[in-house]
Amino acid sequence: MTKWVYSFGGEKAEGTGRMRDLLGGKGANLAEMANLGLPVPPGFTISTEVCTHFYAHSKQYPGELQAQVEAALKAVGMLAERVFGDAANPLLVSVRSGARASMPGMMDTVLNLGLNDASVVTLAKTSGDERFAYDSYRRFIQMYSNVVLDIDHHHFEDILEAMKEDKGYILDTDLSAEDWRAIIAAYKAKVQEASGKPFPQDPRQQLWGAIGAVFSSWMNQRAITYRRLNDIPESWGTAVSVQAMVFGNMGETSATGVAFTRNPSTGANELYGEFLVNAQGEDVVAGIRTPQNITEAARKAAGSDAPSLETLMPEAFARFVATTHLLEKHYRDMQDLEFTIERGKLWMLQTRGGKRTARASLRVAVEMANEGLISQEDAVARIEPASLDQLLHPMIDPKAIRNPLAIGLPASPGAASGEIVFSADEAEQLRNIGRKVILVRIETSPEDIHGMHAAEGIVTTRGGMTSHAAVVARGMGKPCVSGAGTIRVDYAAQTMVAGGVTLKKGDILTIDGGNGQVLQGAIAMVKPELTGEFATLMGWADQARRMKVRANAETPQDARVARSFGAEGIGLCRTEHMFFEGERIVAVREMILAETEAGRRAALAKLLPIQRRDFAELFEIMNGLPVTIRLLDPPLHEFLPHTEAEIAEVAKAMGVAPQKLRARAADLHEVNPMLGFRGVRIAIRYPEIAEMQARAIFEGAVEAGAKTGQPIKAEIMVPLVMTKAELDVVKANIVAMAEAVAKETGVVVPYEIGTMIELPRAALRAGDIAKSAEFFSFGTNDLTQTTLGVSRDDAASFLGTYTTRGVLPADPFVTLDQEGVGELVKIAAERGRATRPDIKLGICGEHGGDPASIAFCESVGLDYVSCSPFRVPIARLAAAQAALGRKAASTA
Ligand code: PEP
Ligand code: MG
Repeated sequence: MTKWVYSFGGEKAEGTGRMRDLLGGKGANLAEMANLGLPVPPGFTISTEVCTHFYAHSKQYPGELQAQVEAALKAVGMLAERVFGDAANPLLVSVRSGARASMPGMMDTVLNLGLNDASVVTLAKTSGDERFAYDSYRRFIQMYSNVVLDIDHHHFEDILEAMKEDKGYILDTDLSAEDWRAIIAAYKAKVQEASGKPFPQDPRQQLWGAIGAVFSSWMNQRAITYRRLNDIPESWGTAVSVQAMVFGNMGETSATGVAFTRNPSTGANELYGEFLVNAQGEDVVAGIRTPQNITEAARKAAGSDAPSLETLMPEAFARFVATTHLLEKHYRDMQDLEFTIERGKLWMLQTRGGKRTARASLRVAVEMANEGLISQEDAVARIEPASLDQLLHPMIDPKAIRNPLAIGLPASPGAASGEIVFSADEAEQLRNIGRKVILVRIETSPEDIHGMHAAEGIVTTRGGMTSHAAVVARGMGKPCVSGAGTIRVDYAAQTMVAGGVTLKKGDILTIDGGNGQVLQGAIAMVKPELTGEFATLMGWADQARRMKVRANAETPQDARVARSFGAEGIGLCRTEHMFFEGERIVAVREMILAETEAGRRAALAKLLPIQRRDFAELFEIMNGLPVTIRLLDPPLHEFLPHTEAEIAEVAKAMGVAPQKLRARAADLHEVNPMLGFRGVRIAIRYPEIAEMQARAIFEGAVEAGAKTGQPIKAEIMVPLVMTKAELDVVKANIVAMAEAVAKETGVVVPYEIGTMIELPRAALRAGDIAKSAEFFSFGTNDLTQTTLGVSRDDAASFLGTYTTRGVLPADPFVTLDQEGVGELVKIAAERGRATRPDIKLGICGEHGGDPASIAFCESVGLDYVSCSPFRVPIARLAAAQAALGRKAASTA
């Protein structure tokens, strides 16, 4: 018989923490906490296999499930000394979802299940608190009706608001038991009206309704969106945990809260969290009441006068602190916890790895390694390379003048500017047309997730550091200011009022998620410091890594940034980018317009000193690190003006007839320029261009060598080669130029000549090409384009549909198509090495900065990856993780 249900409680469990696939994260961790002897309310988990079965069999459960659930309910009842369905001694339960990966707030939860008109009377009696009992019942009706019967929350909120207004109440806690009874009657009438049936009184019917709703919530829109954004497969399914209720709303000695064992924003090793007295869990996350700090230290730091848990309930606090230490040690990671205190007794409801900012991730990993809790290699393996992006991006310039309109909570660090929008849909629409937006909401809910993703940053006027907005923004690495209570948002008028200023949709706002400031207009930003834990962890990554990391850079500015980020050379200098600036473009155009070789040479003579200086400067900045310079690659027409106005302007500046410019542009026009007159083809047709560039490279190396006092080695790379013969023609010119410069200057510049591998034919004939090439650099942008037959410049019109429909697993221009393009890379590497065992192999397409593609490069044994300067740290870390992964696989 298949086991579908796993019980826990009474300091033991049938499951363990390792059974995440089967029990979901929540179920596995509840089992683990029970096994550790922690105070966990007894319960049971229905496995993810039931979810799979449910969807494979038109929402039917496996035959044995009902009996297994009944047996588990009985066991829970024994531990809790209550009986499910017995009105005289009712066992009340919570029903929650829990997938293998955490999906906060994405699926549904029902609390206080088992309450009905009869058992609520018992609850009032046994608790000695009628108010509490009826409040719990009305919460249950509201949650159940929403989650299971699909009746919108607002119906119930309207009823409650009407009652409060009628009676002149301000807070929910002002309502008496009598008031709650009246509310319950109105709620039940609403259920009857909306669903055509009375609210179910049978606890078993309630339970199966809730279980079905949780399984169904796996397929709700927000869960689907969350899975898509986080690469969670649909096939995993969710588990359902049913657990005896404990109540944080049983009066002033009860409380409920959430906490992190370390600060999730900064990573500081300090218990960090919030709680509410006399409340249920949903009150904390809903952001309706402002939660209190758990520790005294945090209370003081926040300048709050609401007492901390530490002073309010010192005994429960001490137990809780001990529990957090135990859990962090046990899991060897920062934990995110949910707890309830029922009349002074602590209960643990959940523990899981805490979501944190990139900065916090780094600090936690480095400090845990220094504490000996994990190894340095573990620390390296734990950081998501892409998350470093958060640290490499701008912060508000410390010198900028700040006049904040409002200050909220520093919910997720980083700064961002953008146009104000008030809805998630609008955020997404504007983002899709390339605009930057700040999403301003009273509060966010899981329905807003797509808009949060689209926004540069998020502001909410309500909710704490653990509100939905704060938790989700941190997970996404978006700057967020939450609970900026002095801002008044008017959705209908599409305005916000703050600090006496009214801003409307489309106005520019800047936020600083590091200190909670909300500022009007666009404020100057600066790049962050890369020291401290960042430098430490990168140092550990560098020890673990095998592949070198270079940058694609051509300007001095890019080269400097690349070096500051730890680039070990330049893997691709696209010389054409140097052709566009100032006076250069004039000479470039003259060269293109020249009708004779002599005319071209005259124009090239003007370019020579400029290119020489460009290269010398790059060599100087890189100070002996390898620099790979690529000969001119793009089609020549890219350098000519296109619109009539531009043509007129350029013609005037050059003193030529517009007609001449137009005619030359027409000559150069191509139907498929990407497969046309470009790359090595230019160097063969107009050898004088490659000669000028080679001369500039060698002379630049001599100049830089004299300046830096060390010999500079040049790596010259030929683009878009398809045959060895092509490379040989160009190579002969380069060699001749090297000899000429050596003779003229008396300095012999060491150099290597290599080729890009950007065409399938080049990959297949790599064995042959390697006879002439001393290195290969895989130009996977063009190699993807030419292998897939997909234009890199025109793919946007259909590629989005391909990836969302799953026709392609990912955008092949972002993440290397390992099966197709990767196969060619492998073949080229093997054949190249067979000819020339020490051939140097690298990659310089965009994939050189993509972690998944970097792992592939490691598996092929490339010598280096080269990527844009801002991605260098990401590539260093990804290369380290790839090397560690390979090592682990080979020792396993
Ligand atoms: C490539 O094709 O991958 C490459 C790096 O060259 P470019 O992007 O300049 O064509
Ligand atoms: Mg290319």
